[in-house]
Amino acid sequence: MPQNPIQCNQTGCILYNSYGVWDDRKSCHVATTVYPTTEEELRLAVANANKNKLKVKVVSKFSHTIPKLACPTARNENSVLISTERYNSSIVVDVANLAVTVDAGVGLRPLIDRVEEEGLSLVAATYWEGVSIGGVVSTGAHGSSWWGKGGSIHDHVIGVRLIVPGNASEGFARVLDLKGDDPLLNAAGVSLGVLGVISKVTLSLERGFKRSITLNFTNDNGIEDEFMEHAKKYEFGDIQWYPRHMQRCIEKAAEATKNINAKRIMATSSIAYRKLIANGLKNSEVFTGYPVIGHQGKMQTSGQPEDSVVVDFNYYRADEASTPRLNEDVWEEVEQMAFFKYSGKPHWAKNRKLDFVGVQDKYPNFSKFVGAKNVVDPDNMFSSKWSDEVLLGQAGKVKEDGCALEGQCICSEDRHCSPGNGYFCRRGLVYKEARVCRYGSGSGSGSESRFESESESESG
Ligand SMILES: Cc1cc2nc3c(=O)[nH]c(=O)nc-3n(C[C@H](O)[C@H](O)[C@H](O)COP(=O)(O)OP(=O)(O)OC[C@H]3O[C@@H](n4cnc5c(N)ncnc54)[C@H](O)[C@@H]3O)c2cc1C
Repeated sequence: MPQNPIQCNQTGCILYNSYGVWDDRKSCHVATTVYPTTEEELRLAVANANKNKLKVKVVSKFSHTIPKLACPTARNENSVLISTERYNSSIVVDVANLAVTVDAGVGLRPLIDRVEEEGLSLVAATYWEGVSIGGVVSTGAHGSSWWGKGGSIHDHVIGVRLIVPGNASEGFARVLDLKGDDPLLNAAGVSLGVLGVISKVTLSLERGFKRSITLNFTNDNGIEDEFMEHAKKYEFGDIQWYPRHMQRCIEKAAEATKNINAKRIMATSSIAYRKLIANGLKNSEVFTGYPVIGHQGKMQTSGQPEDSVVVDFNYYRADEASTPRLNEDVWEEVEQMAFFKYSGKPHWAKNRKLDFVGVQDKYPNFSKFVGAKNVVDPDNMFSSKWSDEVLLGQAGKVKEDGCALEGQCICSEDRHCSPGNGYFCRRGLVYKEARVCRYGSGSGSGSESRFESESESESG
C-alpha cells in the first residue's frame, strides 16, 4: 500500500500527492487535518474554519493530483485540511430515475460495482479507478468518448450538494443543494476545490451495457488524419502513441550519456510486449483473441486483482529539479505548440504550470466562474497560491533559475534552463515562438517571444 498522503505529527501535517512530489517539489504544510464521516461533520468543519479565519482545502484518500490544487497555503499556520477518506459510506442508486448519489469520498471502483449490481452502468470513468468522486468531478477528469453527453465524469453530473461559508446566523456554513438549471451546478463541476466542499454528487446512469474492445497495433503513419474519424466511429475510442518508451533506470543512463538509440530500443521492446499481452485485456482467464467483450463495469476502468503497477508514460522526471532531460526541448516545443499555437486546454489535475498561462481566455465562461467563486466564498477561504495564480492569470510569471526544466515557467534567459549542464534557452525549431531548453553550446536565445516580453515585464 502507498503511504497515506497526509502525514501528521505534533507540529502539524504534511500533504503529499500520490507521486510523493508536487509539481514544484515544495512541501505542503498544513496546521491540522480533520476526517469527517457525515455531511453534518463536513459542515461543522467548514463552519469552524470560517469562524477561525482558516484557509481550507479538501483532499481525498488518494491525493492523485500533480499540481498543488489541494494545498491550502504556502505556510502551515491558519490552515486546515478536510480529508474525505472516511466520508465514503453512502451510495444510493435510484433505479427508476437512472441516477446515483454518492458521498464525495467514495472511490470509483465501489461506485461502479454498486451501480452494476442494479443492472446499470456509469458511462464515463477515468482509466484509473483509484480516484474519489469529489476529486474527479473537481478536476474535470475524464475517460474517452465523444458520444452522448461526453467522456468526462462531470458531463454526467445532475446534482451536487456543496458546503460553503455562511454568516453567523447561518451557523458559519451553508449546504447548497444544486440541481436542475441552477447556474451554480455548472460551476460546481470542475470547481478545482475553490467553491467549497462537495459533499454529495448525483450522476446520471444508463441501463447496463457491454463493451467490445479490439486493440489494433499499427505504425503511426497518418495518425494526425485518423484520430477524428476514430473518435467519431467508436464510442470509447482510444489511441496510444509511443514515439518512444522508457524504463526509468535505463533512461537515467541514456540521459547521462545522451544516448538516443538506447531510448529507441526501449520503445520497441515495450510495444512488442504490450502487443503480446493485449495491453492486459483478458477474454476470461487469459487473452485468447479479439474482440474482448465484457460488462461496462469491468471494461471501463483498470484495476488489478493483485499488487500491480500501471505506467502511463508521460515523461521522465529527474530526481533533482535541476537535472535536464535529454531532448527535453522537443517535448517543450510540442507542449508550447499544443497550448499556445493551438490553444489546447490543460488538464487541471496533471499539467505543468506553464500550460496554465492564458487559460482564462480558453473558456468563455471563465469570468462567470470566478464571479461565482467570489459570491460563495467572499473571503477566499478555499483559494490558495496555486488557484490565485491560475485563476488570476499569474501562472508561470515568477521566474527562478532552472524553472523551465520542470515547466514552472517558459524560459526567456539561459539561467531558466541549465547553462552549467549545457542547456540553454533557445527558440523553437518549428514553432518559432516557443522558448525551450536545448542542449548545445553558447548562449543567446534570440529575439523576443510573446512569453518573453510578457514574463519579463511582470517578473522584473
Ligand atoms: C494513476 C493515475 C491515473 C489517472 N488517470 C486519469 C484518467 O484516466 N483521466 C483523467 O482525467 N485523470 C486521470 N488522473 C488524474 C485524476 O483523475 C485526478 O488527479 C483526480 O483529481 C484525482 O482524484 P482524487 O480523488 O485523487 O483527488 P485529489 O487529488 O484528492 O483532489 C483533486 C482536487 O479536487 C479537490 N477536491 C477533492 N475532493 C473534493 C471535495 N469533496 N470537495 C471539493 N474539492 C475536492 C481537491 O482540493 C483538489 O483540488 C489519473 C491520476 C493518476 C494518479
